[in-house]
Amino acid sequence: MSGKEVENMIIIGGGPAGYTAALYASRAELNPLVFEGFQWGGQLQNTTEVENYPGFPEGIMGPEMMTRFREQAERFGTRFVTDDVDRVELGDGGIQKVYLGDEEYLTKSVILSMGAEPRRLGIPGEMELMGRGVSTCGVCDGAFFKSRKTMVIGGGDSAMEDAVFVSKFASELNLVHRRNEFRASAIMQDRAEATPNINLMTPYSPEEFIAGEDGSLASVRLRHSDTGETSEVAVDGAFVAIGHIPRSEVVTGQVGTDDEGYVVTEAGSTKTNLQGVFAVGDLVDHTYRQAITASGSGCQGALDAEWYLRDTEF
Ligand code: NAP
Repeated sequence: MSGKEVENMIIIGGGPAGYTAALYASRAELNPLVFEGFQWGGQLQNTTEVENYPGFPEGIMGPEMMTRFREQAERFGTRFVTDDVDRVELGDGGIQKVYLGDEEYLTKSVILSMGAEPRRLGIPGEMELMGRGVSTCGVCDGAFFKSRKTMVIGGGDSAMEDAVFVSKFASELNLVHRRNEFRASAIMQDRAEATPNINLMTPYSPEEFIAGEDGSLASVRLRHSDTGETSEVAVDGAFVAIGHIPRSEVVTGQVGTDDEGYVVTEAGSTKTNLQGVFAVGDLVDHTYRQAITASGSGCQGALDAEWYLRDTEF
């Protein structure tokens, strides 16, 4: 599958947005080709139970959910390449080029759905204890910490939102931020400050996530930003909410991106600044970043691309 054959649609990225775009495009008989990435499934591959996706009243494990998304797209003829795209040559209309190594793929339309990844602290224990007490998504995992001691790390709106959400379940929650001033909007900060079981701890930076005997998170070592003094705080759950990084590197400089690297789309659509190139999911979404919103956006991308193909002469 290479050389001079021209695809109708190439979808880059295999998370909820990409697979939903593939489902719609394949049902529209566009025979899409998905470059789903070596680690297909996106952020849901690192999630345990998903309880907030409608249609799964008993909940579903993140990886299982992504397998089902993939199978549903496959059922209608979607083809997959389980590898990461190395390079693209995107233009304003016409035939677009996508490369795996030296192998060139030609296509009439492209849907970008590479997603975003949570920014990490990069401290010991963070990756090892991910899913065993450490999480990057309070809204996803907060409910697993009923009557437990928790911590949220960060000083932006995401941290405030996670703190307020998780505090509904947790017995107590320390909100840890590296500076005394918060980046969050006043209203979000006020809400967190007004919550009785949220305790603001500033200025502290986490230095290490420490496991207990059972192998799950037991405490976090914090370092005071001014004095350098360290202390250990016992917690069962810690939520790292220090922002996200859109995975736009492969298209940077070709498709319009904003200051933070998110791909910019026309208001109310998935159109980028280049005709025939559409962007969906967390790659464009500063705010919602849920599986359900990414899926919805993937559907929009497939419809926008379908209409583009219908109305364009090649
Ligand atoms: P953000 O605004 O970029 O805030 C990230 C926070 O993490 C900052 O306080 C930053 O500290 C801290 N941080 C970054 N790297 C760190 C590190 N290595 N160690 C310790 N702390 C670190 O990101 P966000 O909170 O995810 O928000 C992103 C956007 O979504 C914002 O525009 C926000 O308003 C929006 N949002 C809105 C809502 C809502 O309105 N409901 C909810 C969530 C998000 P410094 O402040 O020191 O840089």
